[in-house]
Amino acid sequence: ADIYGAERPNSKGFDLTAPEKVAALTEQMQAALSRNWTAGPIVGGVELSGPTQPVTDPANRARTVGTVVLADKPAVERALSLSVAAQKQWDREGADHRAACLDRAADLMEADTPALMALLVREAGKTLPDAIAEVREAVDFCRYYAAQARTGLKPVLLPGPTGERNELHLTGRGTFACISPWNFPLAIFVGQVVAALVTGNAVIAKPAEQTPLIAAEAVRMLHKAGVPGDVLHLLPGDGATVGAALVADTRIAGVCFTGSTETARLINRSLADRDGAIVPLIAETGGQNCMIVDSTALLEQVVDDCVTSAFQSAGQRCSAMRVLFAQEEIADKLADMLAGAMDLIRLGDPMDVATDVGPVIDNDARDILIAHASRMDGEARLIKAVSVPDAVQNGTFFGPRLYEIDNLSRLKREVFGPILHIVRFKASELDKVAAEIAATGYGLTFGVHSRLEGRAQNLFKTLPVGNTYINRNMVGAVVGVQPFGGQGLSGTGPKAGGPHYLHRFVTEKTLTVNT
Ligand code: NAP
Repeated sequence: ADIYGAERPNSKGFDLTAPEKVAALTEQMQAALSRNWTAGPIVGGVELSGPTQPVTDPANRARTVGTVVLADKPAVERALSLSVAAQKQWDREGADHRAACLDRAADLMEADTPALMALLVREAGKTLPDAIAEVREAVDFCRYYAAQARTGLKPVLLPGPTGERNELHLTGRGTFACISPWNFPLAIFVGQVVAALVTGNAVIAKPAEQTPLIAAEAVRMLHKAGVPGDVLHLLPGDGATVGAALVADTRIAGVCFTGSTETARLINRSLADRDGAIVPLIAETGGQNCMIVDSTALLEQVVDDCVTSAFQSAGQRCSAMRVLFAQEEIADKLADMLAGAMDLIRLGDPMDVATDVGPVIDNDARDILIAHASRMDGEARLIKAVSVPDAVQNGTFFGPRLYEIDNLSRLKREVFGPILHIVRFKASELDKVAAEIAATGYGLTFGVHSRLEGRAQNLFKTLPVGNTYINRNMVGAVVGVQPFGGQGLSGTGPKAGGPHYLHRFVTEKTLTVNT
């Protein structure tokens, strides 16, 4: 049991240091890739057909991973009407029944881990360690929310005067639109969907355009695990049409969104402009994540943690570090050490266990990075640029870069990729640095490397940031251990994988009976 009483087993890890195990795993993954992977609207438990488009591998654009059928207006309408009709019965089934579906889905995901990993590698460009971690996170979300629902959604008897019985009941709100990004196409997709389902809601899920195949597979598993076809629907398609149409429809009783701050604003506006009920928006968005390193820090550890935080997953984590504030006494040494460590980073096919950094998701993502790098080339000092090997020129790769900038204000918005910026500060300027970080308005992750425990704790207390990490890397939050989510421009909360998350998906009803 964790500190909140949510009883659950941990997901299983995998030893990537044993060559024979890795060989067996990659063989299973390759075998899974020969399946005919398709995604299309799954409405009322039926996979709809239509014109198909190829889904290609970001590591090699010539390789097709599967095909997708995009949702049209009739599919959106049918998903909405079926959900509304089915949700009340699903809510009445009770939390234990719904939690059992989540547990079965977790078992199915674990049993087919190689296939899910294969899709994460080939559809989303994830490295093997990232793919394993992501399957585990999805499994953990299922089991964590299932355990919480069993205990936390029961009606509560409240103390009251004699002759009166008072009860508090939690019920689903209706139909949730779950809109997710491509960078955690399994874990975030599943986390949103199962949180909404287990609390008694119907769900219409809109995955990111780039990653429909793994979303479709997760939906199939949830259906197989017992979630009725009329209660959970999948609508692949682009955000501006399918996503926006869902959000604007008054039959949607809540929106769970993860993605950019800009899209969250659009959704917020659309919800505000709708007629009908005022409904909740859970939005987990971007960051401008910083780390402060003072002169007491252990630099070898700092370098390791910076490489992990800034470049792992090709920097395509919302939690990834974008800015490293280094105290001037150690800044040169740290920059040299980081540049040396970057020489060792291997870009390559993410299916290869030796690969550290895989591709970025698509051409648009790479173009944004190229444009930012070219602006930085004019305004900043380039310390290191890792080049892209010839062997992967067919993919959308971008080599990690390290720049020194004179001021945080040079970064206007989140740059989503493997680019790290160093800013020097004087020992006397720590408060100013903290104020500058707060002034960005983002508050997702923050790191401190300092042997002065009081200083690090003080920064934690001062900064309006969701997840602070002291003397370690700042990525890879674990479900139920490091509840994840930001503040300000980085999100509304409550934190995913935390004790308060499910409550945002329910509505409360009080019953008073004169006995
Ligand atoms: P995005 O462009 O905002 O897209 C997210 C989702 O919203 C996609 O499914 C997208 O559809 C959809 N969408 C786009 N416009 C919409 C609209 N007008 N109405 C409804 N839905 C719409 O974000 P992304 O590029 O996929 O993901 C990267 C961003 O996510 C980064 O900013 C990152 O920091 C953030 N993120 C945050 C967290 C967190 O927990 N805080 C976690 C992961 C990622 P399409 O398929 O058309 O794109």
